[in-house]
Amino acid sequence: MSVLVMKFGGTSVATLDRIRRAAKRVGREVANGHDVIVIVSAMSGKTNELVGWVDEISPLYDAREYDTVVSSGEQVTAGLMALTLQEMGIPARSWLGWQVPLKTTSAHGAARIEEIPADNIAAKFAEGMKVAVVAGFQGVSPEGRITTLGRGGSDTTAVAFAAAFGAIRCDIYTDVDGVYTTDPRISPKARRLERIAFEEMLELASLGARVLQTRSVELAMRYNVRLRVLSSFGEYDEDAGTLVCPEEEIMESNVVAGVAYSRDEAKMTLISVADRPGIAAAIFCPLAEAGVNVDMIVQNIAEDGRTDMTFSCPVDQVKRAEKALQAAREAGDINYRALVADTEVAKVSVVGIGMRSHTGVAAKMFDVLARENINIRVITTSEIKISVLIERKYLELAVQALHDAFELEKAA
Ligand code: ADP
Ligand code: ASP
Ligand code: MG
Repeated sequence: MSVLVMKFGGTSVATLDRIRRAAKRVGREVANGHDVIVIVSAMSGKTNELVGWVDEISPLYDAREYDTVVSSGEQVTAGLMALTLQEMGIPARSWLGWQVPLKTTSAHGAARIEEIPADNIAAKFAEGMKVAVVAGFQGVSPEGRITTLGRGGSDTTAVAFAAAFGAIRCDIYTDVDGVYTTDPRISPKARRLERIAFEEMLELASLGARVLQTRSVELAMRYNVRLRVLSSFGEYDEDAGTLVCPEEEIMESNVVAGVAYSRDEAKMTLISVADRPGIAAAIFCPLAEAGVNVDMIVQNIAEDGRTDMTFSCPVDQVKRAEKALQAAREAGDINYRALVADTEVAKVSVVGIGMRSHTGVAAKMFDVLARENINIRVITTSEIKISVLIERKYLELAVQALHDAFELEKAA
């Protein structure tokens, strides 16, 4: 038995016509002799609508009910896809997360997959079923409640199924025909990559390139899943799309593989906090407990025993961060003169495994931004990436200027 996993994102199942088109692709793989596991997202826009409804009814919602609501979009597309395949004469049926069962932790809204027993679906394949259609993004907690895997989570469902079934490949069908050197919606010069290394894809995803959910890349890397990103529109071709693979399988690559961005960031500064052992813990522990995803952190040089502490977080978590810090101040755990939130910033990053062996990438990045007169607010680096926080209105300009300067439109 050779299993192939095919995942269709929101735009690929946005209408009945598109579901039919996707089903035809599935039919072709069945004709090629594969047993196929199809993972579907909700129709595009549906999950946003569901999240909006929850926010409107209950701003500080019960996360278990949030998951019950937002997981429902995938139930619809799973059933419609199974019906479409049946209409084409292909033996198919749908599975919801809890029916598999796709077991997760109970971290509602951001649950992690713990186990996918293969026996249930494998037994159906053995009986002659050709396609298992599985609702993406959802699972079941140890308490028996429905969970979701975080936005974009159907990618992770797909890779996890590919690992659990030892699939020959996991194909992610989306609205672009592969992974690009940067978001093609921002830069017309963006170039499709034929291959990209797992490590680079992992950084790009975690720095904002939403073409793959970060966790899906992590899982693919850990279980050595052959992961391909391709378009569900246009003609099919064996070499289509981008293969995400171990770096040894890539012959040549640019020093910088791509530019990623995250638009909705905020920068928060605590002015004049005591410079003493334990101050960082006193600030960041309450933030962690409040569920604030702190990203970059800078502590300034102290003067007269006092210092400024700056961090960044997603802009929609600013209120939560303010509340947590004010509570810590009132409890006497920290003492600051003012808390300043700048909600008009964005993060731009350059990523490439070539940075391990090439120097000067950071200098070049800063020089490019300086020439465009873009002020850098915060900088962080790791072995294969450099990120800067800048004013949001310069985001497109910065991405395009960096793409040009590192000549990403040209292959190595
Ligand atoms: P789906 O609904 O199929 O999961 P997503 O909207 O989650 O699709 O992801 C696809 C989008 O990711 C593209 O439309 C594109 O705008 C965006 N994107 C961001 N960075 C990149 C990149 N480097 N390469 C390709 N697409 C990217
Ligand atoms: N429908 C979910 C979302 O929009 C999951 C996914 O599409 O991957 O986040
Ligand atoms: Mg997605």
